[in-house]
Amino acid sequence: MIKLSDKEIEKYSRQILIEKIGVKGQEKIKNSSILLIGCGGLGTSAAQYLTMAGVGKIKIIDSDEVELSNLNRQTLLFEEDIGNKKTVSLLKSLKKINPHAKLEIVNAKIQKNNIKKLLQNHKIILDCTDNFKSRYLINKFCINNKKILVSAAIQSFDVQAFALSPWKGKKNPCYECIFPNTNTNNQLNCDEMGIVAPIAGLGGVLQAILTINILLGIKNEIFREFLSFDCFNRNFRKIRIVKNPDCKICKD
Ligand SMILES: [Zn+2]
Repeated sequence: MIKLSDKEIEKYSRQILIEKIGVKGQEKIKNSSILLIGCGGLGTSAAQYLTMAGVGKIKIIDSDEVELSNLNRQTLLFEEDIGNKKTVSLLKSLKKINPHAKLEIVNAKIQKNNIKKLLQNHKIILDCTDNFKSRYLINKFCINNKKILVSAAIQSFDVQAFALSPWKGKKNPCYECIFPNTNTNNQLNCDEMGIVAPIAGLGGVLQAILTINILLGIKNEIFREFLSFDCFNRNFRKIRIVKNPDCKICKD
């Protein structure tokens, strides 16, 4: 494990001061490698906070270009970036936050024929995509290849976030245990629904904090918790989730 430099000890001193993190925890964060799929509202926010927290390696996958209508909720992208690849613009901003992090971008859309090549070397995958088709594909890959999946969904004033690892415990659910694959779901594209700006940030922030919890070695319970925030009525809830015994994807 690579130790922290003196500069890093100063830069991350406010995190190191926390007893649950300390120097050891910060070293775990520095030596971690995170894969992030999607540079929308969730992905830009999660990437920003994971970089700020001191994650040593981040790989980001997306194929879209920056559009004007992205800028109300996708952080670290600016008007000057319109028309450019989101990954390239995001990388430019992330490098300013942490020039020492190993940041890699891939301009691609996750599909059946490239998922293995793009995801296989990473233990923790953040699904920041905006459609069910990609989410089901990523879920299946994560189960078959024993990857931890950190997911979130955002819409209107609502945020949901959860971490999944169905292969780690008999009761742990997968994505399809929670959102079964129906024809209606498969057609939905979250990006076409309305959203208030800070909700996107909150979704990505929750994915970042769940990831940090996992890196620090939090117990198995985290994989059976569903965080649901209705920010219009200010209702914050943690709901217990368990494996669906009839789930076609993760049942033994
Ligand atoms: Zn399942």
